[in-house]
Amino acid sequence: MSNHRQPDPSGVIVRKYGGSSLASVPRIREVARNIKLARERGHGVVVVVSAMGTTTDELAALARSAHPAPPRRELDMLLSVGERITMSLLSMALADLDCPAISFTGSQCGIVTDTSHTDARILEVKGDRVREALAGGAVVVVAGFQGVSRKREITTLGRGGSDTTAVALAATLGAVRCEILKDVDGVMTADPSLVPEAWRHEQLDYSQMRQLAESGCGVVHVRAVEYAERHGVRLVVRSSFHDGDGTAIDEHGAPSPRTAAEAPCDRHNRYRPLVMHLRRGLTRLRIATTDPDQADIWRGIILRNWDPAGAVAEWLDSGRDLRWEVMADAADLAPVWERLVGDGEESPDGCARTEGLTCVSLAGGRPDSWLEVERHLAGVLEELSAPARRLRADGNALRIIFRQAIPDRLAQELHHRLIPKA
Ligand code: ASP
Ligand code: MG
Repeated sequence: MSNHRQPDPSGVIVRKYGGSSLASVPRIREVARNIKLARERGHGVVVVVSAMGTTTDELAALARSAHPAPPRRELDMLLSVGERITMSLLSMALADLDCPAISFTGSQCGIVTDTSHTDARILEVKGDRVREALAGGAVVVVAGFQGVSRKREITTLGRGGSDTTAVALAATLGAVRCEILKDVDGVMTADPSLVPEAWRHEQLDYSQMRQLAESGCGVVHVRAVEYAERHGVRLVVRSSFHDGDGTAIDEHGAPSPRTAAEAPCDRHNRYRPLVMHLRRGLTRLRIATTDPDQADIWRGIILRNWDPAGAVAEWLDSGRDLRWEVMADAADLAPVWERLVGDGEESPDGCARTEGLTCVSLAGGRPDSWLEVERHLAGVLEELSAPARRLRADGNALRIIFRQAIPDRLAQELHHRLIPKA
């Protein structure tokens, strides 16, 4: 097929690649070859890119080395650079394949956001330059995760925000679908490298996908799922390595008989989550106080020194007293802890930290009663001779928290019993 064929801009596909698929120039060149193929099939192609590999983390660390709590406007100026590096390199790689391409920042695409620096919401997507470039036959490469505020400042959309860029562009362009390309085959019931029996959901509806995203087990950013639902954008999560079907997410969802609530089981054993997710080496931080001044001090320290986007789970109980706890990566919580403890060796009364936890999250398939699930699960864990644990239910997720690392075998058995493939 000729390189100079004009793609039909009415059949636009928006495709988003994450940072791990773009971690090096050879990978970027590989992605360019795939994009060229998609264009040759006659599609108008818009590619939304994340920053290469761990670039965003590195930029954030660089910022903190200049200022412990960087001004958020300046942080956005810096963080938005990560995606600009990828977009220009990918456009160059496409040009090297004689595939016409042009890169745009979020601002150049007319992605207009509110003024909330580092966590902005998209208000409007104009997309004129994208439409013009598509009509001219070019592949359009867009820097994800960023926009321009009503005050004409550069903003970023919060960690993982490139998914939202892709969905928002797909909505504006009336794209046939928005593909989120990953280093997994789709929305899997568990990480296949941990649970070889894990299987791929072929289809999910928006609300199921939202449940997974909200619990931190989803592979798509929660705001992107919400945006897709509001605008009826069909999402497809699939592998960046091959052309497999992946997982389709739309309003129908077609709960295949083997998924979730449809699985045959009796009333007391019918908890069928959609996904299991395991995290090791977590730290839990707890604060509890009846003193409002103390609560203010701790709240301030925590919010200044910790990015809530890194929470695996968070619980709050507040009335006359404040009780709050969070579970997150040890490294994320270390600076918070240092400041809570201050110069003292001992942790202040009401503040506690536990390290080395393992958390198995089960998400989706919210039951009528968590108490019923607790009874079911207690039996299962007993049979598997699981070590001591706590169960915590929040929203659509159940967390099984172990005080130590658990053997892979236990995770595999839990998956086998709770998310069986029919
Ligand atoms: N690069 C940004 C991040 O790492 C945005 C994204 O990946 O979607 O959070
Ligand atoms: Mg990223």
